Amino acid sequence: MINEKSMLAKLQGILKEYWGYDSFRPFQKDAMLSALSERDSVVVLPTGGGKSLCFQAPALAMDGMAVVVSPLISLMKDQVDALCGCGVGAVRIDSSQSEAERGQVRSDIASGKVKLLYVSPERLMQANFVNYLKQLDLSMIAIDEAHCISMWGHDFRKEYRQLGELKKILPGVAIHSYTATATGQVQEDIVSQLGLENPSVLIGSFDRANLVYRVEPVKNEIDQVCEVIDRNKGESGIIYCIRRKDVDSMCATLGVRGYKALPYHAGMNDEARKMNQDAFIHDKVDIIVATIAFGMGIDKSNVRFVIHAGMPKSVENYQQESGRAGRDGLEAECCLFYSGNDYRIWKFFADQAEGTGRAIALKKLSGIYGFCTSGCCRHRVLVEYFGQSLDKTNCAGCDVCLGDHEYMEDSLVIGQKVLSGVVRLEERFGADYNSLVLIGSKDKGILENGHEGLSTYGLLSDYSRGNVRDWVEQLVGQGFLAKTGDYNVLSVTDAGRELLKGEAEPKLMKPLKKDKKKKKRKSKIADQSWEGVDEGLFEDLRALRKELADEKGVPAFVVFGDAALRDMARKRPSSGRRFMEINGVGHKKRKDYGEMFVETISRYCADNELEMDLF
Ligand code: ADP
Repeated sequence: MINEKSMLAKLQGILKEYWGYDSFRPFQKDAMLSALSERDSVVVLPTGGGKSLCFQAPALAMDGMAVVVSPLISLMKDQVDALCGCGVGAVRIDSSQSEAERGQVRSDIASGKVKLLYVSPERLMQANFVNYLKQLDLSMIAIDEAHCISMWGHDFRKEYRQLGELKKILPGVAIHSYTATATGQVQEDIVSQLGLENPSVLIGSFDRANLVYRVEPVKNEIDQVCEVIDRNKGESGIIYCIRRKDVDSMCATLGVRGYKALPYHAGMNDEARKMNQDAFIHDKVDIIVATIAFGMGIDKSNVRFVIHAGMPKSVENYQQESGRAGRDGLEAECCLFYSGNDYRIWKFFADQAEGTGRAIALKKLSGIYGFCTSGCCRHRVLVEYFGQSLDKTNCAGCDVCLGDHEYMEDSLVIGQKVLSGVVRLEERFGADYNSLVLIGSKDKGILENGHEGLSTYGLLSDYSRGNVRDWVEQLVGQGFLAKTGDYNVLSVTDAGRELLKGEAEPKLMKPLKKDKKKKKRKSKIADQSWEGVDEGLFEDLRALRKELADEKGVPAFVVFGDAALRDMARKRPSSGRRFMEINGVGHKKRKDYGEMFVETISRYCADNELEMDLF
């Protein structure tokens, strides 16, 4: 039995010494204690939740070496670079290395300097590699991106399946698995596939409080996209498009408007893709425009915005793709521009599948469409989708709660008209048909059914079909209407009946005007993370960081994360000793970079007559 108190003190010391962090993120403490007690574990934390530290810090506290399984060379490389930058003995063995490099790694391991070894699943399972590992003292096996083992996950990899043998071939070594995938089915699959023994299962909140979600129907897409880029000038961002041709045309249009952006999609050759990915990771270009082919293996921490110029195909995909923003815990913006056409594109793809596959795809599609159109708090809809709840009434981090929208003054009357229409149609038709009847369409089907004679026909003829269709979705999202059966037939819920009696009130958004721009409010978290930060100094420090990162050939965030730079530009330390008090500065970084950063800070403060050491 480990002594929890002394172990925690040890972990805290390690966190401070190597990473310069003062406290644990939620669930990190429990996950680390599981690792130390050598009990198998499954740790589910959202992207940016700090999963890596859950095994990296215990690996330093334990005897022997941890083996970390990671799916991509680029991921391993960044992680190993980042660990070495913090003074942690970490190495990787992969196919991109020469025989001599691999020999060097083995001799480093033999010398006992190495605490973490990163390998791919296929290498780990090679018989001679297993024999090699058997001679070593292993502290644990950590499996990163563990959802890759599950066919239910969004990124199944058959190489991961072989990991099911680990328990047999390396008995007695605890296995810890880490994923951001939120579905229970995947979590159960990880446990059974890996044969975990009485694992501790730690599931964090799926809410990403530092992300501001904004969802709008497409009006003039390129203007909408440029507005987001302009709001985040000079920052890194990803723009996702549905198809390759959309990527190419978005890149070209941005170029014409004077923005530099690079494309990434499966139609490009490997070399071109890698070049563009590297340029983005190394901050040589701010914007990457991509299909969903882009993202796995990107642990760039300072992505400040993710735009979806087109609706993704499921809420799972959206969580994954938008989740690439703000890994460093600082505020970041996720904007989604959707249209009925996106829905039709995905439906076309879903219809190609058969049986259950088709039914699942359509259900997921309706989930994401509901997210886009409901007009309810985006944070709430997302966490509820994954079976959790949000413990605040106003998230202060989405278009709905930040008050980006204006609402119809007569929402109640409109809501009642829509619901009356559904009742008159005897709850037998879907959203499209209901909307057409309400605007008084001369659609052939309606005339054939004789529905132009209903008292609700044309009740909302002052509005467009799109407007009414949006309100129907908002009423579904707010629980006044439900969609049932294979055909998504609309029916009135109990809450809807209250609305009909005027005992409940919906909030229906005003249609967005094409050319009307509304100033977007900043979230509270954005204000807090900039509080006291001198932005000029932050820019100078960013430039210095880039220079150092380029010299070393590593991504900027391997030198320092944005959170550490903002802390420096806020507290403005005047000496190496005080530099150590910055969140994110450990011993090695102080030694490697302290002098240069303190010098830049001192010079800037002298030039601008600024006070220093504001701790
Ligand atoms: P995940 O793998 O869950 O997506 P990471 O392990 O990449 O997340 O961590 C995201 C970021 O948060 C990294 O920049 C990491 O250094 C930082 N981080 C992790 N734990 C802490 C902590 N306790 N305090 C401050 N920053 C942390």
